[in-house]
Amino acid sequence: MNQSVTVNFVLEQVITWVIIGLIAGIPAYKLRMSRHYRLCLPWLLTVLCIIVLTATSLPRAQASAATFRVYLGFDDGPVAGPTDRILDVLKRYGVKATFFIEGSHVATNEDILRREIQEGHHLGNHLWLHELAVMSTNHPSTAILLARYQATQDAIHRALGETLWTIYNQEEPVKPFRWPGGAVVAFPRTDVITYNWQVSATALSIVSVKRIVNNILYGSPAGGTYYGVYAWGDEVVILLHDPTPATAYALPSVIENLLAHGAIFSTLPRPEDTPGAMPIVIGSIPVCARQPDNCTHLSR
Ligand SMILES: [Zn+2]
Repeated sequence: MNQSVTVNFVLEQVITWVIIGLIAGIPAYKLRMSRHYRLCLPWLLTVLCIIVLTATSLPRAQASAATFRVYLGFDDGPVAGPTDRILDVLKRYGVKATFFIEGSHVATNEDILRREIQEGHHLGNHLWLHELAVMSTNHPSTAILLARYQATQDAIHRALGETLWTIYNQEEPVKPFRWPGGAVVAFPRTDVITYNWQVSATALSIVSVKRIVNNILYGSPAGGTYYGVYAWGDEVVILLHDPTPATAYALPSVIENLLAHGAIFSTLPRPEDTPGAMPIVIGSIPVCARQPDNCTHLSR
């Protein structure tokens, strides 16, 4: 996407400057120069123009290409094995992500939480576990919710120890939060931002690598609920799951494809989002979905 914009820009400019160079060289024919100079001067001017173009236009083209920030969010961890493999892949590519922690998963996996902070990732709160009483659609009591939230924060605190806990709070004064099952309302705290997602790897635990890659890059199968990352563009939030065995094995293809399209991987919260808010509404559609080709020009 960004690369093709740059290539088109450069080609357009090269053609323009070749024409200008040839025109600029015409006076050589008018002057009483030797045949040798009359033949060479237009081409010398053309080459000079291309050199100037290369030095000046590339940075301009790249700066004009759209920013493409991508937020990977992994839910339901930490899980020994799968989360380790996910972290290995992220480290290999130098990619940062956000892990939405289930408090009940922390005990016995404290080392994974420490590694996540040490390697520059962010931690979000995903409550204690996926119980119906805390699903946003089941209108849970505020008292229960706040207790589940705090229990998870306490588990994170115990796992990290004081030094990493301090780093975590400095890095994330406003915490990303994700409801188990997604949300219809924002979580009732002003120091969190409630994140749903625009792109989902899958809701299934047993799924192929190919399916995850396709779901993320191009959306769910035809007629599905979700559009892929390229339909959403900048600031897209992607939902993945730690316990899904295929997640780690799908990540290299996803990351390589996104990097080739200029993606910058960042950690939640997104800088423009407001504390206490729920910036992504489940069921919303990308801008291109309202256009005649329904985002198909951004698929495959
Ligand atoms: Zn979950």
